[in-house]
Amino acid sequence: MAAIELRGLTKVYPGGVKALDALDLAVPDGEFFALLGPSGCGKTTLLRTIAGLESATGGSVIIGGRNVTGTQPGGRDVAMVFQDYALFPHMDVTDNIAYPLRIKKVPKGARRDKAAEVAARLGLDHLMDRRPGQLSGGQQQRVALARVMATQAQAFLFDEPLSNLDARLRLEARTFLKKLQRELGVTTVFVTHDQAEALAMADRMAVMEAGHIRQIGTPAEVFQRPANTFVAGFIGSTPMNLLDGSVRGDTLEVAGCEVAVPDSAQGLLSDTEKIVYGVRPEYMTYSAEPAQGALGGKVVIVENLGASHLVTLDVNDVSVQAVVPEGSEPAVGDEGHAVPRRDRALVYRDG
Ligand code: ADP
Ligand code: MG
Repeated sequence: MAAIELRGLTKVYPGGVKALDALDLAVPDGEFFALLGPSGCGKTTLLRTIAGLESATGGSVIIGGRNVTGTQPGGRDVAMVFQDYALFPHMDVTDNIAYPLRIKKVPKGARRDKAAEVAARLGLDHLMDRRPGQLSGGQQQRVALARVMATQAQAFLFDEPLSNLDARLRLEARTFLKKLQRELGVTTVFVTHDQAEALAMADRMAVMEAGHIRQIGTPAEVFQRPANTFVAGFIGSTPMNLLDGSVRGDTLEVAGCEVAVPDSAQGLLSDTEKIVYGVRPEYMTYSAEPAQGALGGKVVIVENLGASHLVTLDVNDVSVQAVVPEGSEPAVGDEGHAVPRRDRALVYRDG
């Protein structure tokens, strides 16, 4: 197994698109690392450059302490799973799984044994004679995984491997993949555009934007303390409220209301300074009655989230959202008041 380290990694495509911009990243040996970001931010380019399928324009790739920047993909000892699985349609499951071993000139008997061993582990043993076209999406995904496992690579690179599965299978595959990675202990970089997937699976994660890493941390750190408004707006099943405001002495003025300075910003603000006030809808308490430090207004939308409701208030022409437990949700047209939690609200200066 091996740590992956990227130093000042830059990739400029012919035509001038800078997909990676002097990016630094260190993934320790055995870690499950998720790379999250919107479409086009450079996630696939990053993986392909680690794998050696793209050459770096600048900087270096170090795998297991070895500088492999100029090394061909075959010499890097990493295995990549693509979004579309890239299975061979004319080969059965055994041959698909054993393919990388054939390339490495492993003898046929040993190849078949290894394929059978890995397939048993993934619950594929009864499907060995089928071709990809005769498998479900979830089974195809497992074959792609089995192929990667059979290679016994030093690191796994996954490019949105679950995005072709339907919602329920996706949840199953998530748990399964995470468990497998724990057992194998192989350093894994897992690319996704789905923040829930990254939060659920990763030991640590990075959020990317336009060829840069905007934040690295544990899922809890990134969720609770997004480092800037980009990450704050990207993470969370309901988007964080990001409201323009300004410092008024010991309090903040936000959407025409007076709210308390969050714990995390105590002593850090100067009077009259312009800020962006951030608070997740989950970190509001809602009341029908006026309350101190509340954002009060008219209820304009009530969305059912299942066990709770997402309530949108019009607060002096600013939209403010709060998650309200089942049973205490208001009706559209009501007057309502959302009180941010001081221990969870945040102040940004990059808005
Ligand atoms: P992501 O995987 O996050 O969606 P990509 O790494 O695929 O992002 O792309 C990053 C940027 O590089 C995008 O602007 C994309 O259009 C560009 N890009 C990707 N591949 C190529 C290529 N082969 N040639 C030129 N530009 C590319
Ligand atoms: Mg991609």
